[in-house]
Amino acid sequence: MDTEQQVMDHFEATCRSHGLKLTHQRLEIYRALLQSAEHPSAESLHKQLETRLPTLSLDTVYRTLATFEQLGLVKRVETMSSQARFEAKIEQHHHFFCDQCRQLIDFTWHSFDSMGLPEALMGVGTIRGKNVVVHGVCNDCLEKKKKPE
Ligand SMILES: [Zn+2]
Ligand SMILES: [Zn+2]
Repeated sequence: MDTEQQVMDHFEATCRSHGLKLTHQRLEIYRALLQSAEHPSAESLHKQLETRLPTLSLDTVYRTLATFEQLGLVKRVETMSSQARFEAKIEQHHHFFCDQCRQLIDFTWHSFDSMGLPEALMGVGTIRGKNVVVHGVCNDCLEKKKKPE
């Protein structure tokens, strides 16, 4: 696992090689994402940063995340809920999504990753990757349900 400094160096080098200025806002957005295990949405990242960066707009967070995504610096996690969620962890992994509290839990699935693609996908186009979102209810929510109100 890379240290945070190595990841930040990689981030800065990638931005520079694409002519993207390393503004304070961009650094803060990336760092916040890197330090979070929550897979935050753009909205919650904005909320988290707005006390420190009062001039940061939600629109800037959206656009910055989209730019980072294009450069392969962050990943978007599509869930069944309306808000896209983001993470700076770009190594291959999958997600468990709790339909109640909406938390995303990372997991690896090597046998799935090494599995070939089904025949139905042959000739469909270029495949960029395959990721799974497993849905269910997490243990925390199951526990809460058991307790009387
Ligand atoms: Zn839950
Ligand atoms: Zn993840």
